Parts: sequence; structure tokens; C-alpha cells
Amino acid sequence: MPARSASPALRLPSIDSLLRHPACLPLTERYGRDALLASLRQLLDDLREPVLSSQLDAVEITPEVLAGRAGERLDLQHRSQVRRVFNLTGTVLHTNLGRALLPDEAIEAVQRAARYPLNLEFDLQSGKRGDRDDLIEGLIRELTGAEAVTVVNNNAAAVLLTLNSLGARKEGIISRGELIEIGGAFRIPDIMARAGVKLHEVGTTNRTHARDYEAAIGPRSGLLMRVHASNYAIDGFTARVPTAELAELAHKHGLPLLEDLGSGSLLDLTRWGLPAEPTVRQALIDGADIVTFSGDKLLGGPQAGLIVGRKDLIAKIKKNPLKRALRVDKLTLAALEAVLSLYRNPDQLAERLPSLRLLTRPQADILAQAERLQPSLAKALGDGWSVSAVAALGMIGSGSQPVARLPSAALCLRPLVSKRLRGRHLLGLEAAFRQLAIPVLGRIDDDALWLDLRQLDDEAAWRAQLDQLQVPG
Ligand SMILES: *Cc1c(COP(=O)(O)O)cnc(C)c1O
Repeated sequence: MPARSASPALRLPSIDSLLRHPACLPLTERYGRDALLASLRQLLDDLREPVLSSQLDAVEITPEVLAGRAGERLDLQHRSQVRRVFNLTGTVLHTNLGRALLPDEAIEAVQRAARYPLNLEFDLQSGKRGDRDDLIEGLIRELTGAEAVTVVNNNAAAVLLTLNSLGARKEGIISRGELIEIGGAFRIPDIMARAGVKLHEVGTTNRTHARDYEAAIGPRSGLLMRVHASNYAIDGFTARVPTAELAELAHKHGLPLLEDLGSGSLLDLTRWGLPAEPTVRQALIDGADIVTFSGDKLLGGPQAGLIVGRKDLIAKIKKNPLKRALRVDKLTLAALEAVLSLYRNPDQLAERLPSLRLLTRPQADILAQAERLQPSLAKALGDGWSVSAVAALGMIGSGSQPVARLPSAALCLRPLVSKRLRGRHLLGLEAAFRQLAIPVLGRIDDDALWLDLRQLDDEAAWRAQLDQLQVPG
């Protein structure tokens, strides 16, 4: 006869005795009596059946053990839904993973702004009411050469606000090749419609000429618009009017040219060996009257939309009641100022600005890291997988240089099973990585799971959780 069924029937402790037990005191303190009570009830409910059928030993249902299990459940339930992850996707500015990481200077600025009152809209010189844009206007003007500046919640808001302020009830003239959709349902024609601007598309998808714009200009025209293609590239037989020429045309007819740079960059990235992106300064020099760009793409700062350009137009934009609805908050402003300040010293920027540091990380460095981590990962995965440290190609992300690839390196994980089972094993392993305390996100491609290590800064935290990986199969 098996030993277990011979033991006398076990009894679970009562809820009351558990609640009073010293082992539960810290839980009451942390989560409150009601939450603990609910958790214990559920736990005891779940254990009733196993206890009745003698699947548990007495040592498994002591008050200490039960308190521990209730504590684990509560920890999990009360865990923050905003989770840190390892972004090993190979895409550096990943929109779904929060885009740019802030430098310490910005994190400290956010903490200060969160902790203390500040002169958000208060002019300390005059003692009168101030304007939050004033806090960063000088810096942005210095870095872009713009006459004036205003900042909103993100670049989509910047485009919406600018279009509505300058072109409502009039026509916005734009090339068919620039009627783009960016992830998250941001479509230029829809934004234009919501801004009250009537879309007047000109040219064709691949070729638009100055004469196409010119023919479209008439009494109902309100503005010319140019949009950075961002997440696609037109290759082959193409034609596009340079910004300088487009600006000249717009100005000849007394119309403003609005340029949405999307990512936009404050500096020429080729000095760090990165693919060229149009700079804000150059767009303004070329004659764009208003330029809009994101704070958390190539700029490397917090989510924000920057609107820079002609003083009279910025004044008009700031008067729009929508500005109040789209305005930027104090934490963002604090972070943005700190990030922009780093741009005053370009020589140090690649060390101090995390996004640029990550984007410029040498491939040899990443490959060496992959080789260093290969043995421990191979051990964690066991016999069913091949793990190799290999060169790989990543990307900038967030619509910057969609076709450019960043030479990187990755751990390439291949299931050693028949072709038929490969997909299931890969999805299983991908899910297992997501279940870790700090979820690890890679990318499946070519029958393998790739962990691009360009962004693996915290190697110790990564190693520490490897033994928790529940390898499927
Ligand atoms: C990314 C992008 C936007 C939207 O910017 P967000 O900061 O994400 O709101 C608008 N226009 C272009 C061209 C973009 O690339």
C-alpha cells in the first residue's frame, strides 16, 4: 500500500489562524488585509482537492509554506504592468518597446521635476506668468537655427497642430509619393482630413516634379507639404523636388512649406558612420517654413513633437486652442532640455546619449559579447538546440533609414529537430524567453531565433535569469 494513502487525512489550517499567523504579518502590511484574505481563500480553495486526495504532505501545508505561496501570488498580481524588457530584436529605436533610452542627465532632470515645484509657466525674472515653451526655446533655436519653437506631445500631434493652424479650410498640396502610413494608424491623408485641410495630391507614387506642384497652386491653396517617407523607400525610376526648389515655389505664391521630417536629426549622422538623415537645420536653410520632428526617435530623448521655424507661423500655431490640448508635460520638458543640452557638445554625444552610443556600437564589440555569452546559453538550452555567435544585421527603427542595415551580431538559436517541428519549437522558446523576470525579446527569422546583442548592456542581469528559462520540448 502506498505510504501516502496510509497517512491520516490532512486538514488545511483555517483562514483565521493563517491571518493571525506571524508569517502572514508582513503580507498584511504590504498588501492590506483584504487582498491577503482573498489570496488565502483562493489558495485554500485550490488546495482542498489535492489535500482530500492525499496528494500533499503535511509539510506542504504548514502556515509558513502557505504564507509563502500566498505571498508569491500577491507579488505576481501586484507586479507592475509596465515591465522592463531586454530589446534583442535588432531594432534600436523600437516603437513598441519605448524607443529611445534616456541619458542619466535626463533621468535626473525628470526626478527633480517630479519631486519639486518648478517654474513651468512662471517667469522668474519678471515674476509674471510664463510660457512652458520658453524653457527650451533658446536651446532649440541654438541647435537648429530656427527663429521660433513650440513643443507638443509627439510628432503626430505636431503635424496635426501645424496643419490645422496653417491650412484649415484650405488645400494642402503634397506628392502622392509622400502619402504615407506610419505604424499605429498614423496616415497623412487622415491626419490632413482631421486637421481640416483638404488634400490636394500631385504627381505619382514614384515621380513628382516641380511643375506638378505649380499646376496645383491656386486660390484655395493653403500650404505645401513634404513628408519624410520614413518606413519605406522608393527605388528605381524616381523623381522628387528638392526642398530648396519646393520652398522657392511655395514662397513665389506666398504659401508656407511645411516639412515633416519624422525622425529628423539635429546633427549629420554620417560623422559617426551612420546613414545620412536629413537634419532640421538643413531643412530650414533650404527654406522650409515649419519643420516637425520627434523627440524620441533619432534625437534620443523623451516622446515629444518639436515644431520649429518662422516666428509668425509659430505664433499662429501657439494661438491655436488645440495647442493646449496637445501640450507637453513637465517631465517631458525636463528630459528634453537635458537631452538637448548634450547636443551642445557633439564630441561627447556618442558616449553620453544612449541611443547614439547603441547605434554606433562597433560590430566587433557585439560579436565578442555574443561569443562570451554563447557557452552559458548553449548550456541553458541543452542538447535540443544549436547556439552560435554570428554576424547579423539590425536596423535603426522608428522610420529612420528603413532600408539601411546596421552591422551587428547575434546569438542564433536553431532547434535540432525535424523541419516539421521547427516552427513550434521556435515559438515555444520565444515564449519561454518572454516569461522570464525580465522578458527577453528576439526575432524569428530563417528557422532560427535571433538575439541581437547590440542593446544588451546589462549582461549580469541577463545571465542571472538564464537558469529560470523553461526550455520547451
Ligand atoms: C514617426 C513619424 C511621425 C509620428 O511621430 P511620433 O513622434 O511617433 O508621433 C510623423 N511623421 C513621420 C514622417 C514619422 O516618421
